[in-house]
Amino acid sequence: MNTQTPPKVLPAVPGGIAEAARVLVAGGTVAVPTETVYGLAARADRPEAVAAIYRAKGRPDFNPLIVHVPHLAAAATLAVFDDRARALAAAFWPGPLTLVLPRREGAPLAAAVSAGLPTVALRVPAHPVMRAVLEAAGLPLAAPSANRSGGVSPTSAAHVAASLGARADLILDGGTTERGLESTIVAVRPGGGWQVLRPGPVTEAAIADVLGEAPSEEERGIEAPGQLASHYAPGKPVRLAAERAEDGEFLIGFGAVAGSISLSQSGDLVEAAARLYACLHEAAAAPEPRIAVAPIPEEGIGAAINDRLRRASV
Ligand code: AMP
Ligand code: MG
Repeated sequence: MNTQTPPKVLPAVPGGIAEAARVLVAGGTVAVPTETVYGLAARADRPEAVAAIYRAKGRPDFNPLIVHVPHLAAAATLAVFDDRARALAAAFWPGPLTLVLPRREGAPLAAAVSAGLPTVALRVPAHPVMRAVLEAAGLPLAAPSANRSGGVSPTSAAHVAASLGARADLILDGGTTERGLESTIVAVRPGGGWQVLRPGPVTEAAIADVLGEAPSEEERGIEAPGQLASHYAPGKPVRLAAERAEDGEFLIGFGAVAGSISLSQSGDLVEAAARLYACLHEAAAAPEPRIAVAPIPEEGIGAAINDRLRRASV
């Protein structure tokens, strides 16, 4: 299969969800909307199903996947939760927070899901379509973003179709995703300490509030394995913190910096996060050979936006 074959797309109505569950149980891959971005799901307990995700994405196999489950009880069968992990789950699940925890011995997970690590990344998503698929399939689902590895993440079914085509066995169309940025990943270390491995919609400050302690200093700066410096690449040079467009640049504006398009004219960072990938897709398709992006304040979810923009620019 290749991108020349048109992908199979179904609306995220009960019939489409039942078909998605059938494909997943049989070991296939299905692109499903979540509140962050579209994920390419497969059953997490079968090595061949997990291998199909890596193959469809062209993803390096040292980069582990996030496992999606319907609730904390299902998560607790796969990983060991201490009081801090339970507190984070209570505060942020369902939602855009991924917990990296010690993998439970005998957990029914293919080794490739966590790239051979003794830990596993778990999330309970909030999106009604992903929740319905999880319930109908009755299995933990591994689901990275539904795009070719290194490309801009998909926030609509059309983005998925353009990037993966028929490499996904099925695409469930549930409209545009609401948050637009991948989940925050936090590692809760069994011996004490925690750190954010990938910034996202749940801020480090919000996590510190729940845990009542700051992130570990000595381990700060550690990133999730497989997080590549260059990622989310729109296929053109990207210049950051641009106040105005230079010749040959398509400017993505923010707030007072008006561009060809804007992440948020009112300077709203939540809106900017939701629109970031759609704007990068639009800039990639524009006639200008280069992309410039207005400065984004490094506060709240702005830290996650700037993280993605830095990776898009190298
Ligand atoms: P994606 O599925 O594309 O959103 O990427 C998932 C991210 O989760 C990758 O950057 C991984 O490095 C990270 N991740 C998954 N499993 C683990 C784990 N066991 N430990 C640390 N990071 C992980
Ligand atoms: Mg991704």
